[in-house]
Amino acid sequence: MITKSRLEESNTRYAQGGIAAAIGPDDSPAAHLRDTLRAGAGLVDREAARVLTSEAPARIADLVRYGVPFDTVEGQIALGQEAAHSRRRILHAGGDATGLSIEEALRGRVIDAGIEVRERTALRALRPGGRNGPTAVLSDSEGRHTEVLTSQPVVLATGGAGSLYRQSSNPSIATGEGVAIAFRAGALLTDMEFIQFHPTVFWREGAPRFLITEALRGEGAVLRNHAGDRFMPALHPDAELAPRDVVARAIDREILRTGHPCVYLDATAIPRDRLLTRFPSICRFLATHGIDPSRDPIPVTPAAHFMIGGVTTDLEGRTSVRRLYACGEVASTGVHGANRLASNSLLEGLVFGERVARQLSHPRDGGPRHTGPLVEIPWSPGAGRGREPSVFEEVRDLLWNDVGIVRSADGLGSALASLEELRGTAEPGQSEELPGPLANAVLTATLIARAALTRTESRGAHYRIDYPRHRREWVRHIGLRFSSRPSRGK
Ligand SMILES: Cc1cc2nc3c(=O)[nH]c(=O)nc-3n(C[C@H](O)[C@H](O)[C@H](O)COP(=O)(O)OP(=O)(O)OC[C@H]3O[C@@H](n4cnc5c(N)ncnc54)[C@H](O)[C@@H]3O)c2cc1C
Repeated sequence: MITKSRLEESNTRYAQGGIAAAIGPDDSPAAHLRDTLRAGAGLVDREAARVLTSEAPARIADLVRYGVPFDTVEGQIALGQEAAHSRRRILHAGGDATGLSIEEALRGRVIDAGIEVRERTALRALRPGGRNGPTAVLSDSEGRHTEVLTSQPVVLATGGAGSLYRQSSNPSIATGEGVAIAFRAGALLTDMEFIQFHPTVFWREGAPRFLITEALRGEGAVLRNHAGDRFMPALHPDAELAPRDVVARAIDREILRTGHPCVYLDATAIPRDRLLTRFPSICRFLATHGIDPSRDPIPVTPAAHFMIGGVTTDLEGRTSVRRLYACGEVASTGVHGANRLASNSLLEGLVFGERVARQLSHPRDGGPRHTGPLVEIPWSPGAGRGREPSVFEEVRDLLWNDVGIVRSADGLGSALASLEELRGTAEPGQSEELPGPLANAVLTATLIARAALTRTESRGAHYRIDYPRHRREWVRHIGLRFSSRPSRGK
């Protein structure tokens, strides 16, 4: 197992709200499936979602066996409610420290099992290998000491791309490198236009962003602008509990309309004791910024949160490259459709991760099938060495401003033109030098923008102001594939 930072550093570690599974007496995988299909706005792969929801209880039992201390009430696992779930089915641990608890338990298993772990080692490239799988090229975090692992199965579990955006809930490791590496190796990608934005991430100039979970709104917190006025009740019957994309767009509009850099989450109606027991990590974080949520409004902004698309896989985690597997946020299994149902992503990693493990023991040939439009993306060598950190900051601004919550053909076209210029600077030439993290950041950003320009409609997490409605002809997935033709600007 190799990981580019420390073993524990991951999106998983920061997950707060919980993990969904139909384990309650009034619940069933069929009900969980219905909610998942509804949230995904017509694009969920029904069979993948059936696997996700029906295997969820068994994977939760694994976690309990591994020692994840899920919160309980009277000896039973406590089940929380989240937006768009028709039942209470969200398991949580340590109040709002679910991801940390899961990550600690799994890390313990890895260490106990004596699995060799190489920290601060990055996957840099995948090259065609023999019958057994691709060849993986690794390097240390400074890009030195290149090492080659010859022809063997490779499982990509490299997570999402949230930190390619100026405002993000993700830690800095989440730059979507796995997507870029798989794309360069010829793997098919799908649904890259769907980036889910979380409506409420702590905002303060210069301070780190920190997710303020939706569950706080579930407990009664409301949104106000800087004048103290609520703006959600006028926009949606469910007000603050409207779907994530609706709330994120409303906050974005309010910020643009008022010119104030954030809005405020008012949790003062929730008793202090309840806030401290249900949201201990949030209360601790806010205290370091002098905020007591039982008295003070919390400044928040929307932020990039979850990469819905990624490397296309079938139900066994197989990609279109032989013996290259993908699972977790880097994979596009189709379970989220155009909009992820809250708390289904930790579950996706567990369910399909276990399926990949089974494939590794008993490999069978197969892979994903794609029936929607396939866009060939030209990507050719540049003239740079990818060493200018400013490239990364430019990518983050470009994505936030033009490939963000509200998109248009003009904005996307201009982002793609700027990304093409950055490609020249970040992408190495025909030399032996491997594309590094900056070149991969530019590539992943380009893939998101290109897919977003192709989808001329609004659906789920993808909103185009020039095409504000669903279009029937777009109940299809957009596939992206590498082409070695020279880039032409768009
Ligand atoms: C703040 C926050 C709150 C969330 N809350 C929830 C929630 O309540 N419920 C829920 O279901 N989901 C939640 N999510 C989403 C969920 O946490 C993630 O989708 C999920 O944990 C992703 O798991 P993963 O294993 O795919 O990726 P990660 O956990 O991000 O792990 C990816 C690993 O790959 C490593 N890596 C990346 N690139 C390379 C490379 N080139 N070479 C080597 N290593 C590499 C990274 O360092 C990292 O260790 C939340 C996410 C965030 C950020």
